[in-house]
Amino acid sequence: MSGTETAGAFEELYGRAPEGVWAAPGRVNLIGEHTDYNDGFVMPFALPHTTVAAVARRDDGVLRVHSADMPGGPVELRVADLAPGREDGWANYPAAVVWTLADAGHTIGGADIHIASTVPTGAGLSSSAALQVVVAMALNELYELGLERWRIARLCQRAENVYVGAPVGIMDQTASACCTDGHALFLDTRDLSQRQVPFDLAALGLRLLVVDTQVKHAHSDGEYGKRRAGCEQGAAELGVPALRDVPHEELPAALDRLTSAEVRRLVRHIVTENHRVERVIELLSAGDVRAIGPVLVAGHASLRDDFRISCPELDLVVDTALTAGALGARMTGGGFGGSAIVLVEDAAADTVAKAVEAAFDEAGFTAPRVFTAVPSAGARRLV
Ligand code: ADP
Ligand code: MG
Repeated sequence: MSGTETAGAFEELYGRAPEGVWAAPGRVNLIGEHTDYNDGFVMPFALPHTTVAAVARRDDGVLRVHSADMPGGPVELRVADLAPGREDGWANYPAAVVWTLADAGHTIGGADIHIASTVPTGAGLSSSAALQVVVAMALNELYELGLERWRIARLCQRAENVYVGAPVGIMDQTASACCTDGHALFLDTRDLSQRQVPFDLAALGLRLLVVDTQVKHAHSDGEYGKRRAGCEQGAAELGVPALRDVPHEELPAALDRLTSAEVRRLVRHIVTENHRVERVIELLSAGDVRAIGPVLVAGHASLRDDFRISCPELDLVVDTALTAGALGARMTGGGFGGSAIVLVEDAAADTVAKAVEAAFDEAGFTAPRVFTAVPSAGARRLV
């Protein structure tokens, strides 16, 4: 989606030129799943797919939002009427950002916004964070709020938690706001410290495929809440502020102290997953990118068997890709559908992709969407 195209569409829609055009990417999480609400580690990278927003201020307290990807004309809201619990469909996401900024004491006089995106929605690639971050980036600049990127991510997380009502962690928004070209972003979700870890696959003859199973997850549904509550129970029983505080070498002893088999499984996933993130950083920092393959595979097994958030389609991607010669594969994102990632030698990429497509066909599943994920830049101004 080019900036000038989106500016043109804005002008056609609202009868004036936008003041600027911004883009924010979707993301793939390389490793570190469901650790973000356990004060743990995550390691996402930004996709080349972005949500683009053309924006102009208004001074009459009106917020108009339009998306080229949704049916219907602009949704018109009043900034003063915004409140958590409102149901304005997809417009809830930009509305949530405006409400959160206002609630934090910033004056937002209104805005006209036109959105167009290449981030698949509901595919576990975080189209919701891209949408919120792009709106926040635009308003931050136009209204001269002076917010740093990590602060924008925090505000967008609050918008999704409080206004939209989805209890998501801080990863997606931070990835969209803070990632850089050719890197994965190591984020410690406890203190929000970050490190850009080189992750340039093309230079090494490697490729990372994203396989969108087209199975739609419902992120804010009960399963996510149950996992979260189970993790909190585990931390409480172990007497630690968060599962992040259980050292990997003390895991067996910690598991012995837990009474519920379910909580034991959840704890084991979180503690081993944090350890896997640290391992991947070590390997990438040492330039040993191929060696992360088995770590990704172990991560998938943990999500499937211990956290129990995989599904037949995701398992089929992983099993088929590995049989067809991939170096590693795992589901990525919240689970119950969405996407898997596959690390593969350049030369084997087509064979692996075809094998996955054939396996889906044979199983009678909807054809997956397969694309190459190039670690890309975070949110930025285009025009
Ligand atoms: P994910 O973040 O994994 O893509 P979510 O369910 O969290 O899935 O967010 C998807 C929702 O975000 C969509 O149902 C829609 O309400 C909103 N959304 C995302 N992208 C757009 C877009 N380009 N235009 C309008 N709404 C969008
Ligand atoms: Mg989302």
